[in-house]
Amino acid sequence: MLRVALAMLFAGLALAVFWIGSAVARAPAGLPETVAYNPLVAGIIAQVTTPTLAYEMEGLTGERPVTVAGISYTIATRNSYRAQAISMSTRYAYEQLAATGLSVTYHNYTWGSYNWRNVVAEKPGLADPGEIYLITAHIDDMPNSSDAPGADDNASGSVAVMLAARLLADRPLAYTVRFVLFTGEEQGLRGSAAYAADCAARGEDIRGVINLDMVAYNSDALPIIDLYASSSVPASIELTRIFSDVVGVYGLDLIPERFVDESVLQYSDQWSFLTRGYPAFMAIEDDDDFTPYYHTSQDALATLDLDYYADFTRAAIATLVHLGGLFPGVGWGQVSGTVTDLEAGRPLPGATVSTFWPADCYTFTATAGAGGVYTLSLPVGVYTLTGWANSPPYYSTVITGVSVFNDAVTVQSFTLAPWLRQYFPLVAYGDN
Ligand SMILES: [Zn+2]
Repeated sequence: MLRVALAMLFAGLALAVFWIGSAVARAPAGLPETVAYNPLVAGIIAQVTTPTLAYEMEGLTGERPVTVAGISYTIATRNSYRAQAISMSTRYAYEQLAATGLSVTYHNYTWGSYNWRNVVAEKPGLADPGEIYLITAHIDDMPNSSDAPGADDNASGSVAVMLAARLLADRPLAYTVRFVLFTGEEQGLRGSAAYAADCAARGEDIRGVINLDMVAYNSDALPIIDLYASSSVPASIELTRIFSDVVGVYGLDLIPERFVDESVLQYSDQWSFLTRGYPAFMAIEDDDDFTPYYHTSQDALATLDLDYYADFTRAAIATLVHLGGLFPGVGWGQVSGTVTDLEAGRPLPGATVSTFWPADCYTFTATAGAGGVYTLSLPVGVYTLTGWANSPPYYSTVITGVSVFNDAVTVQSFTLAPWLRQYFPLVAYGDN
């Protein structure tokens, strides 16, 4: 009899743990397990066009003058040792990013006797701003001469990052996204090393870094792209899987090839993040069809394949959107109510109400305060809400079909059953 009762007790405990655990296990969200076609994302990347890319590339590679600090200026080189040129180049990037409406900062750092700066634009997440995704590129270039257009290496990545900022600035994203341009890459990843160190010192929760370095050269009939991840940070391998999935889901004319290769990773800025344990990967043109103008004054726009570059940029931006969690952008409302004990009717401060939106990609959570009152802010839509508490433990209550309306509050209260009450009949069964 005791054995039966004990078995039932453990069954009851296991059930309670399962119910509570199932709510906890989905939050906070990790990386998307699958990439589902999203027409909103397709609409965003459709705005990446070859004329737009060509125009921006002309500006960053000195083929047309640009306006920087209110004057007309030709960016003939972006070499980090060229003090005035790199200063104007980073200021140009700053002003381009600021024009999107995002908040932009210089990240200043020192390397030896050099005082250099990176450029960082940030879009805070609406659901979980502490979870951060980066799209990055180095804006500096080679050779160290007065004529260094650096079109493929790496105006291509830099323009893609700035275009991503422009296209996503007004889009509601669940997580924080940063658009980062590094200097000092050609001198040994100086800018990214300083930046990643500061992120780590702040304890930032960076979940993914997309680093674009040379994404526009393709001279043959095979539009191969190379994606490099690190075995020491397994999530980086997941990131290249997502990038590769995006290419297929959105029908882009690219052939992704995925590698896990530490020896290659150390040659660009993803390395600075990987060595801090942050998931980062490199997206780069086919190693077997590599620009012959690498680090020369001939690395010019005319040598690039703009169709290949456009699809590469679309893939990078779509990947960033899927990581960042795009909301429909149709307004926000609230669900509010009380969480109370089913039997005693007393309020349960500390109880949790959560929902998953829209396909387990991310979780909204609210904790009940005094009087057991909770308030959950959500994008307009229809939700399944789960209320639960585990100190002391209660069975979770699931309510489906809760509608959230724009600028309105939907009242939805929860009554939770203490799990012990559910257990007693099991003891009675054991006594029989
Ligand atoms: Zn490079």
